[in-house]
Amino acid sequence: MTPRIYISPSSQPDNTYAGVDTNEQEVCRAIARELAEDLKRCGFEVICGDYGTMYDRVRESNGWPAGLHLPIHTNGFNGEVAGTRLMSYDLKGSGYKVCQAIFKHLAPLTPGTSENISAHPEKYEIYAAVAPTAYVEVDFHDVPDVALWLTQNKPQIAQAICQGICDYYKMAYIPESSEEYAPDPEPAPDPEPAPKPSGKIEGLPVVKSGSCGDAAKIVQGALIAKGYSCGSSGIDGVFGVNSVAALKSYQKEQGITADGIVGPATWGKLLGV
Ligand SMILES: [Zn+2]
Repeated sequence: MTPRIYISPSSQPDNTYAGVDTNEQEVCRAIARELAEDLKRCGFEVICGDYGTMYDRVRESNGWPAGLHLPIHTNGFNGEVAGTRLMSYDLKGSGYKVCQAIFKHLAPLTPGTSENISAHPEKYEIYAAVAPTAYVEVDFHDVPDVALWLTQNKPQIAQAICQGICDYYKMAYIPESSEEYAPDPEPAPDPEPAPKPSGKIEGLPVVKSGSCGDAAKIVQGALIAKGYSCGSSGIDGVFGVNSVAALKSYQKEQGITADGIVGPATWGKLLGV
């Protein structure tokens, strides 16, 4: 049977973002809509509850009935603490296992570092939803840098959550078709014609915010070798906020579009070919 995912984004417009003119409801509903598209593409049945109150959404989730109930929120505390927090009914059931799978993809992506999974059986959407619940607090919107990051990375956040859910259900994650990503623009014309990227460069994958693995490691290694810090975790193969910032500085220095995305032009510069 096709797994049924009920996405229940925050309906809290009063939780405003620090330094950005938006709020928890607006951002979480936008993430939920992205996530619904991602999950459908990967073969899930989805209801995106970007309406009503949490009571309406739990009623709809239970009546469907959903196989997984998935509240999406951003967090607030003291304007300093930041990180991904996930919550489930207890620390052993299916809700917890889904939290673990999502955490693996989402926590390395988000800028905050105070991160954990905890049991909250007293939370309404956790105890009242019949389906196992994985309650996602993406990061903290009362920290200005993090609030800005949240508004700028909604597709990447949705992708990370989707990858975690695919892992849990042992479904293949199907990425968005590559034509939806803008390719690196051609470098500005030089007096000397720029060397044509070799076939090897063209075969290298695009590395951008949220990319994981060997290609991300190669980019981090090249940036660090050129004197750009990728943050305290160094060459960890996770292309997070510090790696993107390092890449943008490097691109700016090289006179190529500082979009934080490694396509053929940037690969060519990084590898010196
Ligand atoms: Zn909330």
